[in-house]
Amino acid sequence: MQTIIIMLFTLIQLPYTAEGLEPVISKETLSFHHGKHLQTYVDNLNKLIAGTEYESMSLEQIVCKAQGGIFNNAGQILNHNLYFTQFAPVAQHTEPTEDMAITQAIVRDFGSVEAFKAEFEKAGTTLFGSGWVWLSADKDGKLVITQEPNAGNPLTKGLKPLLTMDVWEHAYYLDFQNRRAAQLTALWQIINWQEINRRFLAE
Ligand code: MN
Repeated sequence: MQTIIIMLFTLIQLPYTAEGLEPVISKETLSFHHGKHLQTYVDNLNKLIAGTEYESMSLEQIVCKAQGGIFNNAGQILNHNLYFTQFAPVAQHTEPTEDMAITQAIVRDFGSVEAFKAEFEKAGTTLFGSGWVWLSADKDGKLVITQEPNAGNPLTKGLKPLLTMDVWEHAYYLDFQNRRAAQLTALWQIINWQEINRRFLAE
């Protein structure tokens, strides 16, 4: 008798406690966003890929190949995994330091960290509807800011995603209501620059 092993996608564990990102992201928002929204994308994807060629693929492979519901759910899982693992508690926050390769690249490509943050926030604020704003690196290591609608990920454009902000209303409505720009400004307080630098340097 043949044994078939089916790999199911699972909900990622958060690298901080449920209250760990307060006051920037409340326990309530985190509970809904991670425990309900992301869990639903995981459950949906596992149902949609059962018995298909996608069952044996990584999230990155699915995102680069699939369309429709499979793309949407896989994209949202990949995007949220990158989103939730880029944060650290406010008390542990550090700014990008000059010795980090990511800081040097930001200064080279945007002029300064402050200019980068302003451009990134503007991209997040002007993205109409639901989606994600991204900092990515191209094949030569040049940094670019892009807006992706819905479940989009810059991987599909050949870019390496480094940092992202979720501008779907579910990411901020309980804490900020309609004030998307205020949320984007606040999120810098919990960005873990060591993690962004690690992604930038990773092959
Ligand atoms: Mn979200």
